[in-house]
Amino acid sequence: MRAYLMTLAAAASALTLGLVACSNNPPTSTEPAQAANALGAAAVTQERLLKADSEPGSWLAVGGTYDEQRFSKLEALNETNVANLGLAWYSDIDTERGQESTPVVVDGVMYLTTAWSMVKAYDIKTGGKLWEYDPKVNRDKGSDACCDVVNRGVAAWNGKIIFGSLDGRLISLDGKTGKEVWSVKTVPEGTHHTITGAPRIANGKIFIGNGGAEYDIRGNIAAFDAETGKKLWNWFAVPGDPSKPYEQPELVEAAKTWKGDQYWKLGGGATIWDTIVYDPKTNLVFFGTGNGLSWAQEARSPGGGDNLYVSSIVALDADTGKYAWHYQETPGDEWDYDNTNPLMIADLPMKDGKKHVVMQASKNGFYYILDAKSGKLLSAEKYVPETNWATHIDMATGRPVENPDARYSKSGKPVIIWPAALGMHNWHPMAYSPETGYVYIPVTVSNAAYDALDNFVYNPNGWNTGTDFAGGASLYTKPGAPPRGNVTSYILAWDPVKAKEVWRIPNKEYGASGLLATSGNLIFSGNHNGEFAAYDSRTGKELWTAPTQARVVAAPSTYMVDGQQQVAILVGARGLPPGQTRTVGVSANNSRILVFRPGGSAMLPTALVAAATPSGKVTISPPLQTANNETVAAGEQAFAANCAVCHGVTAVPGAGATAPDLRYSSLLPFKAQFNGPVRAGERATRGMPGFGNMLNEETTDAILAYIIKRANDEKALQEAAAKQ
Ligand code: CA
Repeated sequence: MRAYLMTLAAAASALTLGLVACSNNPPTSTEPAQAANALGAAAVTQERLLKADSEPGSWLAVGGTYDEQRFSKLEALNETNVANLGLAWYSDIDTERGQESTPVVVDGVMYLTTAWSMVKAYDIKTGGKLWEYDPKVNRDKGSDACCDVVNRGVAAWNGKIIFGSLDGRLISLDGKTGKEVWSVKTVPEGTHHTITGAPRIANGKIFIGNGGAEYDIRGNIAAFDAETGKKLWNWFAVPGDPSKPYEQPELVEAAKTWKGDQYWKLGGGATIWDTIVYDPKTNLVFFGTGNGLSWAQEARSPGGGDNLYVSSIVALDADTGKYAWHYQETPGDEWDYDNTNPLMIADLPMKDGKKHVVMQASKNGFYYILDAKSGKLLSAEKYVPETNWATHIDMATGRPVENPDARYSKSGKPVIIWPAALGMHNWHPMAYSPETGYVYIPVTVSNAAYDALDNFVYNPNGWNTGTDFAGGASLYTKPGAPPRGNVTSYILAWDPVKAKEVWRIPNKEYGASGLLATSGNLIFSGNHNGEFAAYDSRTGKELWTAPTQARVVAAPSTYMVDGQQQVAILVGARGLPPGQTRTVGVSANNSRILVFRPGGSAMLPTALVAAATPSGKVTISPPLQTANNETVAAGEQAFAANCAVCHGVTAVPGAGATAPDLRYSSLLPFKAQFNGPVRAGERATRGMPGFGNMLNEETTDAILAYIIKRANDEKALQEAAAKQ
């Protein structure tokens, strides 16, 4: 329980296939390293990463290559034969939370991370698990993770597998054995910092940031020595205490864009929780910064200002961490428009010539293209037409032209804004094919009523958004009001040069899933309807699907095994696809790694083998409501502020929810039993923190009353449907 929130040329030649299919032949361009290195060598060097695109038989880094286009030059699988893909092998994952990592494949081994920052290594030929590592993150830490206890993957380097843990450690493991080599804490002790992003690595330096802007932290990114874990440089994203010397010269200017003293006392936010990209051509590290703390600008910087460097793309010298340039996509953000969505490097034929660019489909609904070396804005257009917080970007100034009603904390008036805080696109990886020239974006179209709290009071144990999530609801009852919340979702093919939509693939079930593009004229993506699918990258035509039995949020990777192109996808997210029952004994959301190959004939189980709680929602039998309307209303407010981010807005878990549907809880009739997990933390090891220290009993009683109301609402709907 926790605050709302929010809340892919031609087919491969027979000659090429013949060469790689014969294991006695010398290594070919598609798998040189696999043949040369021992199983688990993880022998990733700077030279190998620089040439990753010429080693498509591996998937050397989460983004594929340094440009992070998530594009594979493999074409053995293509539009003519992808329909022959079948399941090669699968392995159950032993967590019940969101699975967000992209499998990294090097020297015959696949490495992935799961929820709770656990690492698993598999032999790509047999699917056999070689080792697994659990950093044993204290489950209480789950309450610091705004958006689930997820992890987005590893970096492989010089025999080591390096990743960040939810509690802020950077950990190096031996690639062959999984034994810990070193572990360093990258964040202060006892704070709300979390790591969910994958580290990136270049020239022996590991780059990692962290999350937690809704709590009380100051965003930063740091570089660490890949051999020892020693910190090499640090960069703060916002100014600190002005009575002390600023750590970086650019913070002097940044401080002039803030007002009051709340920002540095609370930390200021601008956390660097996902994208980090290293560009060999410029030797710069690009990353995005998150929202300010709090969301409502009047609460953190009364009177406004740009609040540098929140919601910005920043470039630093990779060797020294010295500031090079920034571009702030959402100046003075107050809609939680993090700029932490995946960044990509590309060479694009812009109208005034070829440009080396960095680009992003921002949470805020605009697609930005910046000159990689200078940071100059080259293009910024809406990729989702519904976007309404700004009408357009003024290319002369590079600044957004805002909707005059959008600044709710200044106006004091609630307003419906597109997109909502989860954005028109979020962390889910997009892909780019230099062959089609299209970027493939997992789009989620949403709106929210933003409303500032009248009296914001800092809460050391919870979210500090400064917004009233229950406020503004009445706006949706007015004539002409849009449908509330998550409206539609689709895969968008976007032409970044023309800044135009080409086509879209509507999702059968709302939600976003990561993407992969290949030279075989294909894109691959999972979805929330329980499928993994391949589409023609030129037209969007669906060419193949396979059941996943799980919702999918992560992005796939592809590689070669014994002359066959295979595709891997980690599946599992909150809830199950419609109509799906549980089949994994160790995971309520059917978390698994699934690997597909031509002619694969493995089958997923159709029923749960091990004993576990059935998850089918056939009936609902809540207790009668005994609380009065005021208590239920207080419960609604408290639920929105403390529970909705995991259990779903209005207690209906959607694709963004990460915890059970409480309306079906067997504990609803029994307040004392309800209080076990809710107040005493009896299910803390399963990721449900106890709220006994944060909420008084009157409040949790009201939350229970609200859940009982929502359960009875659902019961009435089911009974009405049954009568038809
Ligand atoms: Ca955020």
